[in-house]
Amino acid sequence: MHPLHSLTLLGLLVSFLQAASEWPPGPGAVLVPQEPDDELTAMMAQIDPARIEAIITKLVSFGTRNTMSNQTDPLRGIGAARDWIASEMQSFAATSGGRMTVANSEVPSYVQAPTGSIIQKTVISNVVATLKGSTDPNRIYVVSGHYDSRVTDVTNFLSDSPGADDDGSGVAVAMELARVMANHTSVATMMFAAVAGEEQGLFGSAFMAATLKNASADVQGMLNNDIVGSSTGDDGTTDPFNIRMFAQGVPTTETLSQIDSRVDIGAENDSRIRQLGRFIVEVASNAVTQMNVQMVYRPDRFLRGGDHESFIANGYPAVRFTEPHENFAHQHQDVRVVNGVQFGDLTEFCDFEFNARVARVNGVALWSLAQAPGTPKGLTLDTSVLTNNSTLTWTNDPAAAGYEVVWRATEDAFWTHVVPVGKVTKTTILLSKDNAQFGVRAVGANGFKSPAAFPFTD
Ligand SMILES: [Zn+2]
Repeated sequence: MHPLHSLTLLGLLVSFLQAASEWPPGPGAVLVPQEPDDELTAMMAQIDPARIEAIITKLVSFGTRNTMSNQTDPLRGIGAARDWIASEMQSFAATSGGRMTVANSEVPSYVQAPTGSIIQKTVISNVVATLKGSTDPNRIYVVSGHYDSRVTDVTNFLSDSPGADDDGSGVAVAMELARVMANHTSVATMMFAAVAGEEQGLFGSAFMAATLKNASADVQGMLNNDIVGSSTGDDGTTDPFNIRMFAQGVPTTETLSQIDSRVDIGAENDSRIRQLGRFIVEVASNAVTQMNVQMVYRPDRFLRGGDHESFIANGYPAVRFTEPHENFAHQHQDVRVVNGVQFGDLTEFCDFEFNARVARVNGVALWSLAQAPGTPKGLTLDTSVLTNNSTLTWTNDPAAAGYEVVWRATEDAFWTHVVPVGKVTKTTILLSKDNAQFGVRAVGANGFKSPAAFPFTD
């Protein structure tokens, strides 16, 4: 292990222990983060910075990937990029023994009428590789990046618009994970997506999320990667071992009466989105990823937007990864030199090693989600009697080998304690529901653990 990295991990452990409150006293052991197993570790070692560089270089070579750019020219425009991503995904699927599929004749698409910054009728196409789960195929996890790009004027579909970091880097994450996971067998289904129309208003991801919702798909987690390719900000700060993860609190879909109920029980910090975020921090900050995941309690960057929000708008938990120190001279800019300063989203500003570590964070999280049982459903906390104990009840999942209650002091950011309770659907914990937050997670026969459920329906 790199000495700098072991220091980083030690610092993480120390700060984690310091963050965990001493009060209240309660049952169980201190929660030890789940480690990647041998198969996952070997898979993550195959993620290759050189391949990420090659993907980004190829995407940039299409000149512009503006959503309204040419869709039939084989060399220039978003159509050429779409076809190249699809053919790459199909080559990965060919190694999967038939379990990974990519729409063959044409990728999922629809015609968007002019609206806002879509100034002409435009076909919006997503490229999606689906690796079907072996035993729980109806449960789905999604990883995505957007393959469209832009310059200063979002309607400019003619000028060169390299989009190396925004968002060639995110597409490279989805493609590299599809490649290394294609010939492995997972319990649940994973979708590796490159979506379009992000810059004009999240059109591709909205189409994908709505399509899944209309099919009543059980999407239990979505990881959006948007601007994950550089470790250096415009103030010169270099921060190669931290990745920022935006995790919204109260879901956008919640009604006022649901928010009232949420406030009544102090669940503002315990949405499914936050539980997904906590899970990712727990499983993906380690020696395999060589990264620390920094969860930010915000939907996205201030007043901007990302493809995870399309999934949240359809009731699905979703988070966004973005490099923590951005350089805004390299985003949404015409390629030009001003006073000796190079503007534009060029490949030369990318850090492919950093991008590869972000891919490993996504890979460890995605695989750990897809190998575990689903998040427990129907969890309730009994409030009918006045007692200093807490009784939790949930729905049985035949795929779970057992369950664990997790808890933390109300002001702690992460689950700190774990109480194994066996293969039951009801348990009483000797700790007052007025003093702590409780969750329940499922454990598979393979040892993989689900994100925690919280006793509130969202
Ligand atoms: Zn973007």
